[in-house]
Amino acid sequence: MHKIAIIVGFLLVFGNCFGQTNYQAQRKVMVDLQIKARGITDQSTLNAMLKTPRHEFVPEERKIQAYNDGPLAIGYGQTISQPYIVAFMTKELRLKPGDRVLEIGTGSGYQAAVLAEIVDSVYTIEIIRELGIAAQNRLKRLRYNTINVKLADGYFGWEEKGPFDAIIVTAAAEYIPPPLLEQLKDGGRMLIPVGQPFLVQRLIRVQKKNGKIKTNSLMGVRFVPFTRTKSPGID
Ligand code: SAH
Repeated sequence: MHKIAIIVGFLLVFGNCFGQTNYQAQRKVMVDLQIKARGITDQSTLNAMLKTPRHEFVPEERKIQAYNDGPLAIGYGQTISQPYIVAFMTKELRLKPGDRVLEIGTGSGYQAAVLAEIVDSVYTIEIIRELGIAAQNRLKRLRYNTINVKLADGYFGWEEKGPFDAIIVTAAAEYIPPPLLEQLKDGGRMLIPVGQPFLVQRLIRVQKKNGKIKTNSLMGVRFVPFTRTKSPGID
């Protein structure tokens, strides 16, 4: 009896250790083969991708696919973006540790967590109440204390907390919401997929310099649609 208990204990302890090591090893492979191999060299982005436990942000039954080279369903018709896209957008924001960042489209909270590994304060808005609450609880459990989640239509941004050094929109909009442009600091950067829903959109980088807006189209992407509430302010 005693022997069996020892063996079971050993299996539990080491099984767990292997589980942990395994996820870390999977992250290393993800960063090497999906991100570095495609030309991303920004060290703070690579470190953030190595550190953030992506498997914690996907549904239990998809944990095994968490580090695959693609997006994954997170419920309510929404997806967590492909790791490469998360890394690409993160590095294109050209973040510095003191930056204040706004994200529209919290989803699972993964992109917000990656940002929080680099900057001091992250504000993120989600329109689907259930997803926003789940992300809030998950981020709290994982002790991401510098991320603030709001349940609302992100079209209006988060005026009280702005202006922001960087804004990242992770749902495809048909045009750039004017309130977000207003809440971007001078010298600030915004990344937003723009185009028709359900088609290929362009990932646009917006820069504000001396009050002027400059845009660059970076690449073709496919994001879930940016949706609107009929009556604004659902929080
Ligand atoms: N960044 C997320 C993935 C986002 S999927 C992650 O890392 O997991 C896009 C998310 O944008 C969805 O959860 C969707 O509900 C949300 N969304 C769409 N339109 C929105 C809006 N107007 N305001 C806030 N969130 C919105």
